[in-house]
Amino acid sequence: MVRVRFAPSPTGYLHVGGARTALFNFLFARKEKGKFILRIEDTDLERSNPVYERMLMDSLKWLGLFWDEGPDVGGEKGPYRQRERMEIYRAFAEKLVSEGKAYRVYAYPEEIEELRERLLSEGNPPHYSQEMFERFNTPQRKREYEERGLSPAIFFKMPRKDYVLHDVVKGEVVFKEGAIGDFVILRSNGLPTYNFACVVDDISMEITHVIRGDDHLSNTLRQLALYEAFEKAPPVFAHVSTILGPDGKKLSKRHGATSIEAFREMGYLPEAMVNYLALLGWSHPEGKELLAMEELIDAFSLDRLSPNPAIFDPQKLKWMNGHYMRNIPVEDLAKRAKFFFEKEGLRVEDEGYLMKVLSVVRERADTLSELPKESIYFFADPEVEEIPEELKGTFEELLEEARKLTDWNLEKLSEVFKALLKKHSVKPKDFYPTLRRVLTGRNEGPELVSIISLLGRERFVERLARAIEGVRGR
Ligand code: GLU
Repeated sequence: MVRVRFAPSPTGYLHVGGARTALFNFLFARKEKGKFILRIEDTDLERSNPVYERMLMDSLKWLGLFWDEGPDVGGEKGPYRQRERMEIYRAFAEKLVSEGKAYRVYAYPEEIEELRERLLSEGNPPHYSQEMFERFNTPQRKREYEERGLSPAIFFKMPRKDYVLHDVVKGEVVFKEGAIGDFVILRSNGLPTYNFACVVDDISMEITHVIRGDDHLSNTLRQLALYEAFEKAPPVFAHVSTILGPDGKKLSKRHGATSIEAFREMGYLPEAMVNYLALLGWSHPEGKELLAMEELIDAFSLDRLSPNPAIFDPQKLKWMNGHYMRNIPVEDLAKRAKFFFEKEGLRVEDEGYLMKVLSVVRERADTLSELPKESIYFFADPEVEEIPEELKGTFEELLEEARKLTDWNLEKLSEVFKALLKKHSVKPKDFYPTLRRVLTGRNEGPELVSIISLLGRERFVERLARAIEGVRGR
């Protein structure tokens, strides 16, 4: 059975790149009827923070990327936080030591640093070998360690040979012999290094496919050597392409919002985020671009992952968001938009009314946070507009007629408009824009008839009256 994992370090918000990795893993798991696992890689004690863990989970859930096994939901192969797996790493490391594939080093960090500098000054890459450390491992040093309650670091004996990675996305990648030397797997403080913990976890969690960013490609050499040492076949690797900003540089804060949380706060819909993220380095076999989660799952396959860098284009994401905003049921839109209205100080007492407003203005907004700005005059009176002298008479008569109308009938009202224009020889291009400004305080907006019908007679009459009376100087 396919088992994949998303393995974030809880050191910050979930970013576009991480979210895309999570999404690809999720899609693949669902498509293959496998399991999607969330593993928290929190061995960086200084930078990891449970607050970030919670936020990562929140963002994943908001995107709809629910996991089958993880720190909160449990599972057979747990625990799913690396900090809770220390005995497992120790046992795996001891196994390698007992098989002569790893060794203990009783050198203090300063001594290792000295060794490193010597190698560099001699013009060698800082590649360690067991022989270099032998002089530290004296019986006396071992006693010293014991007395002081220290543990030696454990180094992995990197085999001196070529390694070949058959990556689903990158193709064949050859790592030449001698690229790296022996490396630490367990530090003297008992913490595993990233590559070691990752392999131990992927083995013990029975991960079949590793889909991750290609910034991890160079780590794969160490990981391949570790799989070999444990006599396990490595998982299938798929290193997905880097995400670049529109200027062709690696996506970063300079490009504006990059965290999922920030997009959520700006009023993006998770459907649009998921759809857009899926297209960063993956494409539909028929080139379709607007795809709901179910369609993505259905069409997803690793062989359509592209080795070329993907460009994150905020404009396209916004356009896509606009598409979803216009196509979800209006009840649903109202539920999601309410928060954004209240944030702008527009109290939504009647959801039915909000729905009506939204059906009129939603064409004009690409994000939820743009909706209140487009709808403000449905909730509050606009600033009073001065009516140009030459139109005053027409508007005065319009007010009278509007007051007289027995039922608020748009057809009748537009007959009134036409008759008045004719009578006063006023051009539509002078009249309607003024009417719009009087009613909404704007030059642009949805169709006037929709606005009038939604405002209703009372507010229509009121706003007209205020403009005519020129309630100014407030
Ligand atoms: N914790 C690593 C990261 O945040 C995970 C790398 C991997 O998927 O192996 O990038």
